[in-house]
Amino acid sequence: MLKDNFGREINYLRISLTDRCNLRCIYCLPTEGVALLPHDDIMTYEEILRFVRIIAGLGVDKVRLTGGEPLVRSGIIDFIKELKKIPGLKDLSLTTNGIIFQDKLEELYKAGLRRVNISVNTLKKDKYLKITGAKNNHFTKIIRGIEEALEIGMDPIKINVVALKGINDDEILDFARLSKDKNLHIRFIEFMPIKERGIDWHGSFIPVETIKLIIENKYGKLIPFKKKYGGPADSFKLKDSKGTLGFISPISSCFCEDCNRLRLTSDGKLRLCLFSDTEVDVKNMIRNGANEKDLINMIKQAVSEKPKQHNLNIKNNSFLGCRRTMAEIGG
Ligand code: SAM
Repeated sequence: MLKDNFGREINYLRISLTDRCNLRCIYCLPTEGVALLPHDDIMTYEEILRFVRIIAGLGVDKVRLTGGEPLVRSGIIDFIKELKKIPGLKDLSLTTNGIIFQDKLEELYKAGLRRVNISVNTLKKDKYLKITGAKNNHFTKIIRGIEEALEIGMDPIKINVVALKGINDDEILDFARLSKDKNLHIRFIEFMPIKERGIDWHGSFIPVETIKLIIENKYGKLIPFKKKYGGPADSFKLKDSKGTLGFISPISSCFCEDCNRLRLTSDGKLRLCLFSDTEVDVKNMIRNGANEKDLINMIKQAVSEKPKQHNLNIKNNSFLGCRRTMAEIGG
C-alpha cells in the first residue's frame, strides 16, 4: 500500500494518453488550440505498461485513461487488453468526449472496459457545437454511443458536465431529469481555472451548492447515495430515479484530505496534484535505463512529497494557473 506523509492511501492513477483532442471545448482549451507535444515526447504504450505494472505492485488498483482524447490514440484497444492482464489492477475506466466512442464501443467492451465517463455539457445540439467546436453529426453520434453503451451493459456510465454560468446552467434540471429516466450518473463539475481557456473563469464559475439548490427546488431533497466506486463526487439520487447525481467541488469545498490520486501526463511526468506543477520525469528515467528498484524508489519518494492541499486560493485571487493544459494532465 502506498501512503503519503499525511496518511492518505494512494491507489488511483489517471493516465493522459495523449495531449491531442478532436474537440476544442471552451472550458478546456483555447479555441485557436495549443502547441502539441512532438510524438517522441509522448510515452509509448510499452513504457506506460511497465510503469503501471510497477505501481500496481505497490497497491495502485484503479486506473483511468484520459487525455486529450484517449480514443484518438491508435492502438488503444490492444493497450486496454494488456492493462486488463496486470495483476492487482481491479478498476479500469475511461474518460472520453464520446465523438468516436460509438465506433469503438464493441471493441472496448470486448477488451474488458466497463466503466466510462462521457463529457456532455449540454443536451442541445446547437449549443454543443458552440461549446466544443464539434462538427454537425458529432452530437448525434455521442448520444447514440451512450444509448448503445447502456444496451451493451457498460456500467456505470457517467456523464461529466462542467457547470458554466450563462452557458449550460439553464439545463441543470434537464440533466437531473436524465438521471431519473436512465441508468446514467450525471456529475456536475465545478469549472476550474487551469491554464488558458476559451472563456473567462470568473464570469463562468458556478458553485455546486447553487446547482443542488436548483435541483432541490424542483425535485425535493436530494437523497444521499452510497457509491459502489470511490471518487471525489458527493453522490445523490432523486426519488425513483434510475441513475444518480454527483457533485464535484474542487473549488468551493476542497476534498484534498481524501485525495488518493496520482496523474501521469501524456509526456510521462508523474504529477502529484492537479494544480501543482511539481512533477517527476518517469519517461526519462525509463528511457535512461532505470531498473524496477529505481522506479519503485522514485514512486515512493514522489508520493511522500504529495502536497497536503492544492494551492487554489480563489478568495485571494492568488491562483496563477499552472503550466499545463487539462488535456496534457488529463483532468
Ligand atoms: N477528452 C476527454 C473528455 O472530454 O472527457 C478526456 C479529457 S478531459 C481534459 C477530462 C475531464 O476534464 C473532462 O471531464 C472535462 O470535462 C474536464 N475538464 C476539462 N477542463 C476543465 C475545467 N477547466 N474545469 C473542470 N473540468 C474540466
